[in-house]
Amino acid sequence: MQNIAKVFETEDIETHALKNINLEIQAGDYISISGPSGCGKSTLLSILGLLDFPSQGQYFIDGEDVSSLSLDKAAAIRNSKLGFVFQSFNLIDSQSVYDNVALPLRYRKDKVSAEEMEQRVTKCLQAVEMLHRKDHKPNQLSGGQQQRVAIARALVQDPSILLVDEPTGNLDSKSGEAVMSVLDKLNKSGTTILMVTHDSNHAAMAKTQLHLSDGVIVEDVELREVV
Ligand code: ADP
Ligand code: MG
Repeated sequence: MQNIAKVFETEDIETHALKNINLEIQAGDYISISGPSGCGKSTLLSILGLLDFPSQGQYFIDGEDVSSLSLDKAAAIRNSKLGFVFQSFNLIDSQSVYDNVALPLRYRKDKVSAEEMEQRVTKCLQAVEMLHRKDHKPNQLSGGQQQRVAIARALVQDPSILLVDEPTGNLDSKSGEAVMSVLDKLNKSGTTILMVTHDSNHAAMAKTQLHLSDGVIVEDVELREVV
């Protein structure tokens, strides 16, 4: 992102939600974004996720300028390159864990074979340690288990980056720790993660911690791994 700004205009008020954001995310990064309510976290995540577009500035994904796209093109890039994990798990209760994770593969234009689908779903459920519950329905699982299934679903298209919004917001602290440990493990095996969180302990688990204040990145702490 280069000099990204976002202004919301309503009747007589202009809100400068983001001002001059410069952000470079490399494959393998694990970045947390934290800051007080109203500082622009969700706006930044929406723009990163192509759910909204900047008022100013440029945004590139894999070298492609995605600052202003048609809705169809944005949806296509979202489906192929971006994985989303939300505070609410958004699983379909009438379908099994397996089918919830397979869903993005079933809805894409270029179909994958049944064999490849099985391989991919199995691999993603293994990665979040939920394969043993593949035939359960989401409402038969704890909140933390449901969030792990939601992470598997976000991974099944092999996205370039996982965009995570308050992943433990609806969880008790023990389930929250299990979800954080899955994210940590995924990053260690190569998944790129950008996570918005209020929880400073969870923010500290990321390799790079960004703090937003009033639409501006104010600090940028990089914790180098101690070997
Ligand atoms: P956070 O997620 O950090 O709590 P947001 O990104 O949701 O903050 O909001 C940043 C600022 O932009 C706030 O002042 C908020 O009121 C404003 N804002 C967000 N979305 C809209 C919108 N759709 N229309 C008008 N103002 C908005
Ligand atoms: Mg928010």
